[in-house]
Order: sequence, then C-alpha cells, then structure tokens
Amino acid sequence: MSEPINGFTGFKTHENLPVADGPSAKPPAAPIPPLTLSGEMKFNPEKLALLPQADRRWAWVEVNLNAIRHNVMVTKQAIGPGCRLMAVVKADAYGHGAVQVAKTALNSGAEYLGVATIDEAIELREALINAPILVLAEPPNSAVPLFVAYKVMPTVYTPEFAILYGEEADRHQVRAPYHLKVNTGMNRIGVRPDEVVDFVRRVDFHRALDLVGVYTHFATADCMETLDFHIQAKRFVEAIHMLQAAGINPGIVHAANSAATFRYPEVRFDMVRLGLSMYGLHPCTQTRRVVDLHPAMSVHARIVDVRTVGMSEGVSYGLSYRSPGNVMICTLPIGYADGLRRGLSGRIDMILQGQRCRQVGAICMDYSMYEVNMRVYGNKTRITPQIGNEVLLVGREGESAITIEELANALDTVQHEVTIGFANRIARVHT
Ligand SMILES: *Cc1c(COP(=O)(O)O)cnc(C)c1O
Repeated sequence: MSEPINGFTGFKTHENLPVADGPSAKPPAAPIPPLTLSGEMKFNPEKLALLPQADRRWAWVEVNLNAIRHNVMVTKQAIGPGCRLMAVVKADAYGHGAVQVAKTALNSGAEYLGVATIDEAIELREALINAPILVLAEPPNSAVPLFVAYKVMPTVYTPEFAILYGEEADRHQVRAPYHLKVNTGMNRIGVRPDEVVDFVRRVDFHRALDLVGVYTHFATADCMETLDFHIQAKRFVEAIHMLQAAGINPGIVHAANSAATFRYPEVRFDMVRLGLSMYGLHPCTQTRRVVDLHPAMSVHARIVDVRTVGMSEGVSYGLSYRSPGNVMICTLPIGYADGLRRGLSGRIDMILQGQRCRQVGAICMDYSMYEVNMRVYGNKTRITPQIGNEVLLVGREGESAITIEELANALDTVQHEVTIGFANRIARVHT
C-alpha cells in the first residue's frame, strides 16, 4: 500500500474509521484486506494473451488460408510451369495479413512477393521470409540503404536512383538487382517504351546493377472495352523487342495483374502479379467462367443487444430510420472504425440463422443496427434473435451469401478498398 496508481491509494479499512460509541454501536466488522497494488502478480498476462479474439469483442474477420492456397494452386495450374507467380501482398495483403498470406502463397507455388513500400518488405523479412521481394515503386534516394540491407528489389525508372542504388550495393560488395518499369499507357510511373534502351545503356556501366526484370501495368485489364488494353500490350511487346535487338536481356518479363492473367493469356510472359484473385475475388465478370476462386475473407459478429422498437420510433444518429412496427432491432459491435463504411448505411444486410436482415439507421463508429421482421411471410421461418447469436456480414451460410463485391457495388468502389478497410481495427483470425 504505497504508491498511488492513477491517484488511487486503496480503500480505507475499518481500522481507520472512528467507531461510534454508545449501546447501539455495532462491533467493528472483520477488516477488509487492503488491495495489493504492488507486490505479487495477481494476473497472468501470458494466460490472458491466450484469450481468443472472438471472445474479446463480438466482431472479427476470418481469413481462410486454405482458400488462398486453392487460389494460388489453380492459378499455377492455369499459367503452367514456365510462368512464375508473384503474390501481391501490399497493404497488409489487401487486409488479409501480409505475413500469413505470403507464407501460404509461397508454400502453394508462388515464387515472388510484391509490395508497395520498403516497410512492407521489411515486415516480411523480419518474419524470416527469404523469397525475392519486389517493391512495386521507386523509393526516394534516401531509402536506398534499406533495399541493400534487407535484400529487397526496387522498381526503377530514373537513372539517378539506379546509380545511387548501384553505388550503395558496391560499397557493401553485393549485387543491386532491380526491375525496370515501363509506362505503356497508365501514365503513372515508368520510362517511355521508346526510352528503355537508352535508359539501360545509361545505367548499365555500373558493375553492381543487375536488370532482373522489365514490367508494365495495365489500366483497363478489368474493363469491358479492350482496345486500350491491346494498345498497352503492343507497346510493351515492342519495348521488350527493342531491348533484345540492342543485345540487352530483359530478364523476367511481366505485365499481368489478376484480370489480365485470366482474360489475356498472351500477356502472362514470364510472371503474373496476382492480387485480387489470390484473395478469391473476381476482378470482373469475364474471369468467372475461366477460373474457380474461393473468397478468403469473411466478416463475423455476435448480437450484443436485441429490443423491440415501437412503430415510428427512430434508430441511430439522426433517427433517419423509423420503425415500421413489428420489428426487433439487433445491434452488432461493428462500425465504420472497423471498415463497415458509413456510406453503406441502409444498403447492406446481415445473415442471421440463414436469413438476410436489413441494416437500418446510420452505421456508427463502433456499432450498426439491423431490423428483424417479426411477421412471418412467404416461405420464411420466424427468426428469434438473441444476444450472443453469431451473424455474418460477409460470407456464406447455406443458401444466403453476402460478398465483398456487393459491398463494393453499394459504395461504388472496387473490392480492394473494401477488404483493405476491414484491416482497420477489427480483430483478424486466420483459419
Ligand atoms: C497492386 C498491383 C497488382 C495486383 O493487382 P490485382 O488487380 O489486385 O491483381 C499488380 N501489379 C501492380 C504494379 C500493382 O500495383
């Protein structure tokens, strides 16, 4: 009983209290033992750390690594043995967990990893992943030492960066492998197709530099219209031919993202870069008949509150939803801080006991509410929601399914943004 913690110095014991005298005075009760705020450990942090995520808060994301394994294996089968597979695990593997996904992909046939930042690459190296890693961007010159130290390949498209990178590698007597990025029409980063030979000649004198790959990225691989795609593909093939004609070996030639991998086999070249479809999501309708993918991510919650809300009573901020009567309102502890974007308010469902129930009222930061109709109609069976019932926000239960695509469409965005959103705060469980 010495140091106060947060100003708390312990409960007063009866010993310290003045005892009333007189005949009605009760004998002092047995003293309450003072709280031990220091001294022996009352809690076992290791045991507490074992408490499963789904028992800490009733909302969690499940990532099925067997689905990732399946998607990598069917892709390897489709592209054949001569073509490498790069698992794109940037942005924490699109919200699926970079280390777990990278390990699973590498164990299932992937040979290469792709990330967007050097810190994403370092996270993989610190998890003892040895596979080649390409950062799909040219970093600032100041980041060069990290690439050399962690043996991570940069994307290169400015000669100044290439030289600096080569010099740093030389100082440590190691090689400086890189991939050259060609801009064929996306107009984001990269050298122009007619400049690739010049570029390589300008930097090639540096003895540490190794050109190990040349690549481009498509702007419209997932679009209905195909003309722009073919223009980009043609420019890229021409750039590769120019390199070869100049006696330069382009190394690993790659261009295809998920959509291009399955829609345009002719641009698979030496490697495909698989993002979305590795997570089991189709980039467009055209790929559906080509490959059978298994979605890896599902979103789960348990009901924390059930109440009847009388007719015309409102629910949530702004009370914009009004009860039509004869409904139960169920509350889930998942909100926009968890990735359930506020823009989805009133546009999504949950699956409870195999049936879809409408989300109603504004989605809050930490909660969202759902309406269960108490009238039984059609072939529906009455559902009786109870606190603790497990529900699905994304996933499949029997005949009912809610997809990431549905959420993306409701938000007028791409599926990538939806899965990345679910990496925010909500717990993630790998199965
Ligand atoms: C993110 C990314 C990919 C993966 O794209 P998906 O459409 O998710 O398959 C491929 N290449 C580059 C350069 C990327 O930035």
